[in-house]
Amino acid sequence: MVKKAKYVYAFGGGKADGKASMKALLGGKGANLAEMSNIGVPVPPGFTITTEVCDYFYKHGKKKPASLDKEIDEHIRKLEKKMNARLGDKGNPLLVSVRSGAAVSMPGMMDTVLNLGINDDTVEGLAKKTGNERMAWDSYRRFINMFGDVVMGVDHEHYEEALSKVKKAYKRKLDTELTTKELKEVVAEYKKVYKKHVGKGFPTHAREQLGYAIDAVIGSWNIPRAVAYRQINKLFGLKGTAVNVQAMAFGNMGDNSGTGVAFTRNPASGENKFFGEYLVNAQGEDVVAGIRTPEPISDLKRDMPKIYKQLDGIRLKLERHYRDMQDVEFTIQEGKLFMLQTRTGKRTGLAAIKIAVDMVKEGLISEEEALMRIEGDHLNQMLFPIFDLDDKAKAVADGRVLTKGLPAGPGAANGQIVFTADDAEAWAKAGKKVILVRKETSPEDVSGMWAAQAILTSTGGMTSHAAVVARGWGKCCVAGCGALEIDYTTKQVKVAGKVLKEGAAISVDGSTGEVIEGAVKTSDSPVIDGIVNNNSRAKQHPIYKMFVELMKWADNVREIKVRTNADSPKDAANARALGAQGIGLTRTEHMFFEGDRIWAIREMILADDLAGRETALAKLLPYQQKDFEGIFEAMNGLPVTIRLLDPPLHEFLPHDEAGQAEMAKRLATTSAKVKAKVDALHEMNPMLGHRGCRLSITYPEICKMQVTAIIEAACNVAKDKVKVLPEIMIPLIGTKQEFDILEAVVRETADAIIKARKARVKYMVGTMMEIPRATLVADQVAEKAEFFSFGTNDLTQMTLGYSRDDVGSFLPDYISKEIFREDPFASIDQGGVGQLVKLGVERGRKTRKDLKCGVCGEHGGEPASVKFFVGAGLNYVSCSPYRVPVARLAAAQAVIEKKGAKKKVAKKTAKKK
Ligand code: PEP
Ligand code: MG
Repeated sequence: MVKKAKYVYAFGGGKADGKASMKALLGGKGANLAEMSNIGVPVPPGFTITTEVCDYFYKHGKKKPASLDKEIDEHIRKLEKKMNARLGDKGNPLLVSVRSGAAVSMPGMMDTVLNLGINDDTVEGLAKKTGNERMAWDSYRRFINMFGDVVMGVDHEHYEEALSKVKKAYKRKLDTELTTKELKEVVAEYKKVYKKHVGKGFPTHAREQLGYAIDAVIGSWNIPRAVAYRQINKLFGLKGTAVNVQAMAFGNMGDNSGTGVAFTRNPASGENKFFGEYLVNAQGEDVVAGIRTPEPISDLKRDMPKIYKQLDGIRLKLERHYRDMQDVEFTIQEGKLFMLQTRTGKRTGLAAIKIAVDMVKEGLISEEEALMRIEGDHLNQMLFPIFDLDDKAKAVADGRVLTKGLPAGPGAANGQIVFTADDAEAWAKAGKKVILVRKETSPEDVSGMWAAQAILTSTGGMTSHAAVVARGWGKCCVAGCGALEIDYTTKQVKVAGKVLKEGAAISVDGSTGEVIEGAVKTSDSPVIDGIVNNNSRAKQHPIYKMFVELMKWADNVREIKVRTNADSPKDAANARALGAQGIGLTRTEHMFFEGDRIWAIREMILADDLAGRETALAKLLPYQQKDFEGIFEAMNGLPVTIRLLDPPLHEFLPHDEAGQAEMAKRLATTSAKVKAKVDALHEMNPMLGHRGCRLSITYPEICKMQVTAIIEAACNVAKDKVKVLPEIMIPLIGTKQEFDILEAVVRETADAIIKARKARVKYMVGTMMEIPRATLVADQVAEKAEFFSFGTNDLTQMTLGYSRDDVGSFLPDYISKEIFREDPFASIDQGGVGQLVKLGVERGRKTRKDLKCGVCGEHGGEPASVKFFVGAGLNYVSCSPYRVPVARLAAAQAVIEKKGAKKKVAKKTAKKK
């Protein structure tokens, strides 16, 4: 016999049909009401209509299951019995609240309806039953307002108008001053408002009211703001909302009643102290609406000591039971306490870390559980300057948020707008804090970018030059902010109908992408001050200590290594301090822009023959060698992967007339010749052009110079007892032949130096995997290649065929249509690009069992991608220095998740047996 579907679950009175683990079916609120009932926390009884009803509704042409109404009626009868009152009964009415509640907390859906069941008859019964006529009529008028507003969509302000009319007529200032007679008038006025806007009279039958409210909750699942919320927060795969119907507890029955909301610990600081507020003689919406100012929860201790004691006991009980900080709602009805809700409380990064570390110390959770509770964003909040919460809230409330771009580089910053890298440098030298605002940035801008507090660009994606460079430094950056209309000639930017001139103050939030008018206050991170700046006072800071402890736990668990992408000795040293276990990518071209180096590379590009190129390259050699020495010293004992020149050569040339004239003068040639070279190097698709290994196939002398610099540097520092482990990496190969040709050049050059210097330096030669074809022929490439590093920026670009610099123009449409749930340049496309990574690893290791595999694309520092790479069997991930801690955490979480999944599988198989 087919089991009859069960759509309604009861709770309250010390027992329940459901439990906390049934969130998918009962929604978070319903599951926790059931759980609280089961563990003996006082909860007004009620029932939950499951999320399956909502699911059914949308799958069956907006019809509910046929058996549902009967089941609801049965549960109403049971509830009536428990409460010793009846829905719609004139003498002894039962009133209920109706609330939505999906598996995850989701603002945007229908709000609560309280006092459902009141009508012209029951209001008298309620008055008699409670002995409080005023309260009954007050509840009635609130109900008409709420029902009209929430269930039928009648704007709250129409009720406000009607209320003001009555208050004015009787010269009342506060709602609480209205007498019963006056409240009756309010009810009459509210009914008129309802009729006018709904087109029919207020429903008087209690069961009919309930039906409407249930339908409204289910209907609210797909209203635009709920759909938008799910999209923004990437909440996919939910069945729908549950509906909770619960007996009313009245907080508005006098001075021994009240209602409040609280957190079991402070959600901002994490401090283990009861935190919340309450209002005497009030119902739920009064606390939220901000009409009256609530009292801090500590005052409840003074006003109702017994209740406070009971509530504090429940706080401890809930924390012990759920083993996490809870966010609760409660109501006190004539000296009796009821809990209306409990759920895991939202918290700041600081609070998340403090609570997790404290709970380990309190023996509530294990170190592994603590690690699982920390999100990448939580850690980031510890590492970067953040906005002062109040100041930011004020800016938002004042409407100063101008626009939003991609949160490309973390942190928060304020400063004055400048539009050129040179101005950024000059203003910063003069002691000003600046934000560099550009359409995009190029390697030429790096000094100005460094000098700026933050970088803001109107184009470019998460792997644009600005984004990559800023993240490398841990600098705040918002990229691809399409709403900015930047005019370099007038030095102004138009946005949100405003014109901001050079020098105007703005603030940039690199975690949210918000651009804010004016200066929002920021504060520094003691973690960075302690770790990177080695400040001994910062090391005493509790936040620093917690961070270090948490990272230690992560390192104990994780199995893969975390390296960094760094191009200078300073970045390398910072990254090492942040826990990097080597360098996974040194982009050597980034070294070409400092000081006079650019002139040597320009000379090389301009040269007509090999001799000319070699002369120019010889000038570059000592610079590169010195940088490599610094990097090797900083990474003493750890591997360093150095990539040979990658970008197309035109990136090193000036594209404007003045720049070309300057270059001609400096290199003793004519502007025409410079321009001719720039034109000759112009490519329609430079990302698919003469770049990567293709450069050294044409100009092996470039490869030779770079290898010479690497190996000479290695020999030099090795003499000083520095342990060097260079890994020379050939970029952008697509065929075995490309690799073999260049590997021969590398080895010939390197071995000759080592032999001549009688050094004992060992090195490896490997390649980047960033062209799809390379992953397909990985078995052939691995015959000579000793390691692979997946360059997932280019691999994503070339697999999807989306330009990494222009994806911003269509990506929002792709996200909103769920073609992708995340920017594939930020979080690896697991079903496509990720599969090529897996394939490359598998095929490569078929040929070379111990092939070292890593990833050095931007995905190497993104938690979901890191977890994927752990599963793909990589030996390490490599990311920007300031993302190293997040990658360490994600790598540990991947191991814990894997263990959890294994345990579940083991349990299932044991059950089957
Ligand atoms: C990559 O393509 O993933 C990579 C790391 O190289 P780049 O970003 O320098 O092209
Ligand atoms: Mg690349």
